Amino acid sequence: MCSGAGPMEITILDAEEDTHQCRACGKQFRGRGKKARCPDCGSSDVKAL
Ligand SMILES: [Zn+2]
Repeated sequence: MCSGAGPMEITILDAEEDTHQCRACGKQFRGRGKKARCPDCGSSDVKAL
């Protein structure tokens, strides 16, 4: 039974994300704000590039 398209959660890609680099492992990733965390090691010790 298909009820068709319902309301979906849409993930909006924020264009204001900045590139960060993890100081712990050197991983570069996109994050937002000053509380970005490394997706690899979970460290919050990152710097904005
Ligand atoms: Zn890391």
